[in-house]
Amino acid sequence: MKVLLMNKPGDVVLTELPTPEPESDEVLLRIHAAGICVNDVRDYKGECSFSYPRIGGHEFAGEIVRMGSKVNTDRFHMGQKAVTYVIDNCGECYYCKNGYENVCPDFAHTICYQNPGGISGFMGFAQYITAKASDVYLCDECVPYEKLAMVEPIACVLNSVNKCDIEFGDDVLVIGGGTMGMLHVMLAHMRGARVILSEPMKKRREKALELGASIVIDPMSCDVVKKIREITGGIGARIVFDTTAVPELALQAIDSTAVCGTVVMFSSLHPNKPIGVDLGAIHSTQKNITGAQNGSVKTFWQAVQLLNKGLLDPAPIIEAVYDYHDFEKAMACAMQPDTYKVILNITD
Ligand SMILES: [Zn+2]
Ligand SMILES: [Zn+2]
Repeated sequence: MKVLLMNKPGDVVLTELPTPEPESDEVLLRIHAAGICVNDVRDYKGECSFSYPRIGGHEFAGEIVRMGSKVNTDRFHMGQKAVTYVIDNCGECYYCKNGYENVCPDFAHTICYQNPGGISGFMGFAQYITAKASDVYLCDECVPYEKLAMVEPIACVLNSVNKCDIEFGDDVLVIGGGTMGMLHVMLAHMRGARVILSEPMKKRREKALELGASIVIDPMSCDVVKKIREITGGIGARIVFDTTAVPELALQAIDSTAVCGTVVMFSSLHPNKPIGVDLGAIHSTQKNITGAQNGSVKTFWQAVQLLNKGLLDPAPIIEAVYDYHDFEKAMACAMQPDTYKVILNITD
């Protein structure tokens, strides 16, 4: 099979590797589409501590082309469209047994990140991948692969949105209008909130208004905390999602949150630097500060339902689809600060 092998940062070649053999409880997927994530961009730029060579790509969708002998043939069939749970959690620890499998500490020690002497990575930038049948989610024939490649990002955002019981008429502030920010806008809107987006790029603010935001603000031309107070009659937003990687904006997020409200640190911070938080104020305002990382087994399921049933259309936040032979062009597009999700079409 062909894979996009990243020998070192900035050096990706299309290489031939043996097609993996499915174990008895596994299926073999022929991958047809894979999204380029911010993590893949960081791997490419060398802004990560993972081992090389790497095969990136954890946002992929494909078709079942082989099944191990013990795979349930009542449920799985050849040719079915599918995505898989990409968090390689242990299934055994406290976290895995309590529904926190998305933060299983063992995951950080898997070959997804480190494989000295071998190839590390999520392996989605390849023609084939094996997966445990129990990790597979079946997708509707009608949904194109490019859209199914959005399941993982959507699952991550659902994990974030599920942390807050957004109620009808709530004020929800989303900071940052990139791919993940825009998914927060769309999903919070579906939950019946008045969504406010803070985003410096005009083009993105305009798009947010089309995708469900009620109000957009430009953080470069106003004091965001003051503006949110103004819009919400002095209360603040009941729910705030910080989807930016900028530590300073975390304070803005906390200060924009209503008393007894919830603020979710969705994005990882780069570079991560601790910021001073007034914990006395957290005490007296009863604000909830939490984080959201990865998708869970359940939110992958939910993401697939949203696409299978046509309830969410990710097409407006797909910037471009490139043939994977044009990886350099696709990566150049993904690295632009104003682009949305770039998808690779994994052809022959
Ligand atoms: Zn991702
Ligand atoms: Zn675990």
